Amino acid sequence: MIIVFKQGTTDAQVDSIRQQMSAHKVIVQDIQGEICHMIGLAGDTSHIAGEELTRFEFVDRVVKVSEPYKLSGRRFHPSDTVIELPGGQKIGGGGLTVMAGPCSIESEEQMLTIARDVKLAGAALLRGGAFKPRSSPYAFQGLGLAGLDLMRIAREKSDLPIVTEIMSAEYCDVFEKYVDVIQIGARNMQNFPLLRAVGELGKPVLLKRGPSCTIDEMLQAADYILVSGKSRVILCERGIRTFETATRNTLDISAVPVLKKKSHLPVIVDPSHGTGHWDLVLPMALAAVAAGADGLMIEVHNNPEKALCDGQQSITPYLFDRLMRKAQKLHDTIINDEELTA
Ligand code: PEP
Ligand code: MN
Repeated sequence: MIIVFKQGTTDAQVDSIRQQMSAHKVIVQDIQGEICHMIGLAGDTSHIAGEELTRFEFVDRVVKVSEPYKLSGRRFHPSDTVIELPGGQKIGGGGLTVMAGPCSIESEEQMLTIARDVKLAGAALLRGGAFKPRSSPYAFQGLGLAGLDLMRIAREKSDLPIVTEIMSAEYCDVFEKYVDVIQIGARNMQNFPLLRAVGELGKPVLLKRGPSCTIDEMLQAADYILVSGKSRVILCERGIRTFETATRNTLDISAVPVLKKKSHLPVIVDPSHGTGHWDLVLPMALAAVAAGADGLMIEVHNNPEKALCDGQQSITPYLFDRLMRKAQKLHDTIINDEELTA
């Protein structure tokens, strides 16, 4: 961190800041420029609220040199994290892991049919929401605990691990017991008490990007989960809010290589919420694979017109099968082509 003083700052004023900073167990170094005076701080500055120093009228600005996140960043963890589930499924490490299923759990028959179909097409995990974060309080809110129980049955019968969203820390115990990968939805990406609570469970956590959150904010949210030292995190780009209205969200494909550069965590993409239209899911899934995503999350419904939630962006099992073949083929081409990977 570098503190830049305004021209004309007195030695006594610089000294007062120097003394304050020395109390923080960091190395404080003077940098005397031609025009202005600066102080450089080296060491762990994460606990120093740099921006608060600008309340001194003689402080011009505070420049942060290191990233605001530590645990999710590559700086202290250069190798890629690979998450292995009890069934042997891997997330990260060069493969393409696809999670598929309906937006919301509606019935046992629906879950079992979709679980069978997505598994046949090659999905590694079954998704489905029991607790649904809906914009309107009048919309279907999910089956709650009864839905989670249907997910448990589908897990047992299909032998697919399950990923489902937690909305409140009050359900941590039951999620810990039945859920393989715990999803934090986009709207809760910055629900810090929930992130901390889920981080204590020691389960893989799928963290979706908040609709108005920057990549650095997402990585800081991941740190909230990782700080317990117990859980691991999978990052999910699912589109951000922009001025564009042709799509539900703007899927930020560039987030994939940016996240891969900044973080060691696996990165997956959700083109269903990212676009909001069933016919855009395949092209954007392929774009995500081409950009280097470790996996995909796809909404699949056996009867999209009748879906209780997000039918407009859900694809049929038939289309999902086509998507899987194309995505896998593209992934294999990119991974195996020596010329391309060189
Ligand atoms: C979901 O995956 O069911 C969901 C609600 O997604 P998001 O949190 O990205 O909107
Ligand atoms: Mn949905």
